[in-house]
Formats: sequence, structure tokens, C-alpha cells
Amino acid sequence: MTEVTRYGTPPVELPLRLDLALEPTPVPGCAGCGELAALRGRARAVGDLTTVTDCNVLIRRHPEGHR
Ligand SMILES: [Zn+2]
Repeated sequence: MTEVTRYGTPPVELPLRLDLALEPTPVPGCAGCGELAALRGRARAVGDLTTVTDCNVLIRRHPEGHR
């Protein structure tokens, strides 16, 4: 019996929640993180994923300082 699956590409579940999984948590009490988190929320609301990513990078950079 041969199956008709010769397309070579099995259905892959796309990691749609990748952004959420990668999102760093703003450090409590840090004004920089707080601002970035607020900006990130606003950017996400308007679908500006570039800014969301930028904010995530900056929040993750907290130990080295923002900007
Ligand atoms: Zn910070």
C-alpha cells in the first residue's frame, strides 16, 4: 500500500504566539521599562509590530541600560 503523500511537506503548526513567547517582562520600578511597555501596548493596538519588536529588544536590554 502506498500513500499519496508525496508532497514532502507535512502540515506544520506555525508558531503564531512566537511574539508573545519572546516578550520580555518590564522590570518593576524602572521608568524606562514602564515607558517601553506602554509604548509596546499602544504599538500592538495599531498593529505596528516593528515598534513592538523594538520595545521588546530595549526592555530586554535593561541590565545594560535603555537607549
Ligand atoms: Zn528598565
